[in-house]
Amino acid sequence: MASTTTRLDQQYGSSVRSVWASVLAAISTAFLRPGSWRDEDVAVFQRQALPVILAGERRIASLTAAYLEQLYRVEDPRAPRVSLDLDAVTGSALRGVDPAEVYERPFVELRTALSKGESLDAAVARGSHRLETIAKTDLQLARTHTVREVSADMPRFTYTVRVLQGEYDCALCMIAATQRYHKRDLAPIHPGCDCLVKTVTADYDPGQVIDEDRLNAIHDAVEAALGTFDRGGRAVDYRKIIIAREHGEIGPVLGYRGQRFTGPDDINIPT
Ligand SMILES: [Zn+2]
Repeated sequence: MASTTTRLDQQYGSSVRSVWASVLAAISTAFLRPGSWRDEDVAVFQRQALPVILAGERRIASLTAAYLEQLYRVEDPRAPRVSLDLDAVTGSALRGVDPAEVYERPFVELRTALSKGESLDAAVARGSHRLETIAKTDLQLARTHTVREVSADMPRFTYTVRVLQGEYDCALCMIAATQRYHKRDLAPIHPGCDCLVKTVTADYDPGQVIDEDRLNAIHDAVEAALGTFDRGGRAVDYRKIIIAREHGEIGPVLGYRGQRFTGPDDINIPT
């Protein structure tokens, strides 16, 4: 069974990665190619990018539903097919905010930087980074919302766990991967998080298996985030240093205990 689910994880993981790559490439091109970022450019960008993002979210949702169904068949070969309303797990359903409003933010970011005297290059880089973070977050929300929706109809599954995908791993994800969450709760994410979220039975225990390199990376990241951290505290239960904080738009977000919203950029929470 373990090898079956590992193979499923890999197939699903690589399908999702290719959706991420194509969506991010297409919207980045749409943002950069005009070479100007005025009001009329916002409308042109949105006409090109919003359908691409929505199609990406729907693809992630479909892939995720099919993956969970396969996982569930390992537990119960006679399980009925699940149905999923794609509109409920994509688009404005994710944040409760019109995507047109959300995808204007990279332009606002860019103009704000310009108004503060930053160079055009630096301002464009900020806008691009904001766009990428927003889109990654939305693609990941399509996944977590689908997991919550679909697993509700899978009585043998109780929890969700995450499987690190490697591409955008951060210390928070490494720690969070040692925990399980009840399936009715939206899996907490982190901006840029690309973790695979899977459903498991009540017997499953993710354990605290983190190798020395990863543990060091966690200590470094915590130190960078909090300014100080007891490096001698090797026995610290690192699971206790992360918390899930409710964010108005994107739901539970992983953060370090003691960390404020005004933390370093990489653990800040752009919306
Ligand atoms: Zn993650």
